[in-house]
Amino acid sequence: MRRCYIFVIGGVMSGVGKGIATASIGALLKARGLAVTAVKIDPYLNVDPGTMNPVEHGEVFVTRDGLETDQDIGNYERFLDENLSRGCNMTSGGVYQTVINRERALGYGGKTVEAVPHIPLEIISRLKHAADTAEADVTLVEIGGTVGEYQNILFLEACRMMKLEKPKDVVVILVGYLPVPSSIGEMKSKPTQYASRTLNSAGLQPDMIICRSTHLVDEPRKRKISLSCNVEFEDVISAPDVPSIYEVPLHFHAEHVAERLVKKLGLPKKSTRLKDWKSLNQRIKLSKKPIRIGVVGKYFSTGDFVLTDSYLSVLEAIKHAAWFIHRKPEIVWLNSEEFEKHPKLLGKTLNQLDGIIIPGGFGTRGVEGKLAAIRYAREKKIPYLGLCYGMQLALIEAARNLLGWSDANTFEINPRARHPVVCLMKEQEVKVRGSDYGASMRLGVYPCVVKKGTLARKLYKQALINERHRHRYEANPKYRQDLEGVGVVFSGLSPDGTLAEIIEYKKHPFFMASQFHPEFQSRPFRPHPLFLGFIKAAVKR
Ligand code: GLN
Repeated sequence: MRRCYIFVIGGVMSGVGKGIATASIGALLKARGLAVTAVKIDPYLNVDPGTMNPVEHGEVFVTRDGLETDQDIGNYERFLDENLSRGCNMTSGGVYQTVINRERALGYGGKTVEAVPHIPLEIISRLKHAADTAEADVTLVEIGGTVGEYQNILFLEACRMMKLEKPKDVVVILVGYLPVPSSIGEMKSKPTQYASRTLNSAGLQPDMIICRSTHLVDEPRKRKISLSCNVEFEDVISAPDVPSIYEVPLHFHAEHVAERLVKKLGLPKKSTRLKDWKSLNQRIKLSKKPIRIGVVGKYFSTGDFVLTDSYLSVLEAIKHAAWFIHRKPEIVWLNSEEFEKHPKLLGKTLNQLDGIIIPGGFGTRGVEGKLAAIRYAREKKIPYLGLCYGMQLALIEAARNLLGWSDANTFEINPRARHPVVCLMKEQEVKVRGSDYGASMRLGVYPCVVKKGTLARKLYKQALINERHRHRYEANPKYRQDLEGVGVVFSGLSPDGTLAEIIEYKKHPFFMASQFHPEFQSRPFRPHPLFLGFIKAAVKR
């Protein structure tokens, strides 16, 4: 079977939406009936992003098969409406680790192992493997960062080698940026021209240039870029800012992006089915009445900036559910540490909201503020959705305030607590003792049995579900009965009955929390049932 590859490489600067551009191209190719997959390459040395702080890196997304990945994988899954697998994300660290381990095992038969060609060869082998696993006609390969950065040169080298081997099967797209400096008020194309030159110096010629900017790129500028970057006029694509990322596929369609790519790769011409994308965008436009959801977290700020990237999938899942019932999501980011410093702020802020979410988290910082928010949501009957840490903390809140165990805690914060309501299971204990922290949490999809007669069951409409996990600690089975005694309903359990996966309260309009991360499986065309139930309850409030 023929496998084609489209490399997407950034120029000028990062953060201009290269991931969304990649995902949108994938969506359009899929809408033409092609089998599509995507791979994100991250040039850093961490083997995976699992050990990084979210403020440093953004959200860590988790695939079904348990790989901790870059947040762009979440965008690919949402836009392609496909579950990706392990091969979808690689880092320099991971590639080097494989090559070095192979050398130690005499895998290179006594030869000198060198950065070139052995690193690019390993990269190529991984890309081919990802394409084969997905049985993809087209594999999109997004190289993180920008061209000209020291650390991604070997990935560009892999691209060059693949193109040399099969020139007709590989296409290179440069995503440039055209700034409009306020002092001149004019769009400048030079930075993109320089980026194209830098790509040339790596031995690569762009086949298409996507021009990100605040505005549409006019014809004279398109001509200038075409001429100076050696790209056909039709392959200079205008990509202005749009109100919603989900508009990008329609925009690219209007610019004939997929049509041009299919032609370049000599793939069969087929019509594009964009019905789902059009109705999604229609729904977004019709969503005018706001719904206010507070997200209580701590991974927000670097300096003066608020980083919502740390909770990207949560944010998208809220949007999907809200749009589904024609509501405009208004997200209020709340730093739990503020509630600790100014307790009066709590009621004032939370009362203004239609619903509260406490997403995943780690460590001690901000926990007391989150516990106070959970108590408020429970007592004042504000719809609450807890995700992972948001469930563990809901159990601690119940133990402290309903059972009166003031010392109740998670093992993560206080291993010596008299009531470790959230504990470390045997298998994890071994890992923590051996400082084995990389890719060692409970990761990926696990089955869960949803109890009859519960709200969770009503929302899922089925007894057996599969959801994605990423956590080290678990609700302590020892205290289940005590907690049930004060109204906690354990509505989802692992099939063997040991692990608590979903909890809820009966006498509350909506109080639900899960040990897994439902946000990872929410899709724009198909909101997640728990988020939808939560948003509906929030609307009622
Ligand atoms: N810190 C908790 C644990 O490791 C929760 C993790 C999370 O919220 N993803 O179990």
